Amino acid sequence: MPIRENIQLVRNKMAEACLRSGRNPEDVELVAITKTVNVEQINEAIGAGIRVVGENRVQEAWRKFQEVDKKVHWHLVGHLQSNKVKRVLQFADMIHSVDSVHIAREIQTQAEKLDRTIEVLIQVNTSQEESKFGLEPEATIKALEVISTFPNLKIEGLMTIGAFLPEPEDVRPCFKLLRELKEKANERKIVGVQLKALSMGMTNDYEVAIEEGSTMVRVGTAIFGERV
Ligand SMILES: *Cc1c(COP(=O)(O)O)cnc(C)c1O
Repeated sequence: MPIRENIQLVRNKMAEACLRSGRNPEDVELVAITKTVNVEQINEAIGAGIRVVGENRVQEAWRKFQEVDKKVHWHLVGHLQSNKVKRVLQFADMIHSVDSVHIAREIQTQAEKLDRTIEVLIQVNTSQEESKFGLEPEATIKALEVISTFPNLKIEGLMTIGAFLPEPEDVRPCFKLLRELKEKANERKIVGVQLKALSMGMTNDYEVAIEEGSTMVRVGTAIFGERV
């Protein structure tokens, strides 16, 4: 199906999920995940109203950034290595995947050199899957306390990748955990930390994620089709 129609379908389902949970559809951003997707398709999505694209590899994103329609915002959603931080700061508006104090410190160092600030989300491993990046839920508040002292990082919220389970309902506990963690962190009143964003929900589970409070869904396959 054409990209434009796919986007409309996703937006309709997002709106329905908002309606079911008493939320305002304007409070949930659709981040189009464009890994492996070519520049023409990305521009088509932008033409159909996409305002934010997300990539998981810095080199691929940088290459496409230079060609894609300039009115879109770029988010990094995949694990970031120290040696790629400098590059990502040249084009990204937000990093969803800050998964250690170590990488946050490196982002601080490079952002300071460039005299810029960057919005970040702290990635939490809510599924207890060993293979997943992200802080353990129990370690998140401590990490927030440290990262909040880095002046060039603006902590906007939390991010998670739900468990890889075929039934979306089974992923709900991951999203619930992230929402509760956000509430808990805000109750701590850490100086400089007022978490607003929850980046959670992908093609298979974004509706459940919205019901649990997601403010950013990261959708690739439902927009661009299966990745090859
Ligand atoms: C690929 C990817 C997505 C999108 O996955 P789909 O199932 O294609 O919607 C979302 N978030 C991250 C971090 C990804 O790497």
